[in-house]
Amino acid sequence: MRTALVLALALGFGASSATARPWPNGAKAAVVLTYDDALTSQLDNAVPALDRRGFKGTFFLSNVKQVDVPRWRTIANEGHELANHTLFHPCSAKTVSWDPRYTLEAYTPDSMLKEIGQQNVLLTAIDGKFRHGFAPPCGETLAGGKDYLEPLRAANLVSYSRGVFTKPADLSADVSAIDLMHIPARAFPEGVTGAQLIDFAEQAQAGGGMAVFAFHGVDGDYSKVSGEAHEALLDWLYAHRQEIWVTTLQDALDWAKDLP
Ligand SMILES: [Zn+2]
Repeated sequence: MRTALVLALALGFGASSATARPWPNGAKAAVVLTYDDALTSQLDNAVPALDRRGFKGTFFLSNVKQVDVPRWRTIANEGHELANHTLFHPCSAKTVSWDPRYTLEAYTPDSMLKEIGQQNVLLTAIDGKFRHGFAPPCGETLAGGKDYLEPLRAANLVSYSRGVFTKPADLSADVSAIDLMHIPARAFPEGVTGAQLIDFAEQAQAGGGMAVFAFHGVDGDYSKVSGEAHEALLDWLYAHRQEIWVTTLQDALDWAKDLP
C-alpha cells in the first residue's frame, strides 16, 4: 500500500510535489486547449465556444488560408495564442499521401528550421509577437531521417515544442520539471465523447498537473471532435473554473517555470 502510494506520487498522480510552483488563484491544476492546422472550423466553432466562457486557447498554425488572416489577428488580439506548426505541414511519407516534396523525407533539419523561421515571420506579421511555441506536424521529428528537435532547441527559434500522444495520460504534477521541447499533449480519436474528454481533465484535477488537449477540427473539417463533446468539456471546465486554470500553453508554461 505504502509502496503504491510512493509510486503514485513519483509518477505525479498523487499530489503536487513540494517543489512545484502552485497554480495561480488557488487552482489545483491547469488545462490547456490546443487546436492544430489553422482550420476554419476552429475559428467558426471553437473560438466562439471559448469566448462565451472567457477561456483562451492555443492555435498551432500551418497552411494558413489568406482569407482567414484577419480572423486569426482578431483572436490573437483577444488573448488567444498563435503558435508555429510550420508553413507546409511536412509529415513522413508513411503518414500522409500528398506531394512527396512536402514530406519529411524531402527535408533536412536545416530546411525544416528555415521553414519554421519563416512561419515565425508570418505569425509575427499576424500577432505582432516575437516569441512563439511550436508543435511538430504529425508529432514527427525526423527530417531526412535526422532529429530536428535538438537543432530547433539550439537555434532558439521557438519557446516550446508540444508533442502528441494518445496514451498514457502524460500528466505530471511538477510542470516546472517538463522539458520545454517535449510538452506532452493528448489527442483523441473522432467520436470521442464529452465524458471521455472530461475524464482527462479530471486526471489533471486529481494530480495537480497540466492536461494539454490536442484538437483538430471542431464540429467540422477533419479528425474532428463533435461540437457536443467540445461543449460538454468546456461546460465542465467552466463549472470547475475555481479549481482548474484554463489558459494558453505559453501562459501555463511561463507560470510553471516562473518566467516573466
Ligand atoms: Zn497538424
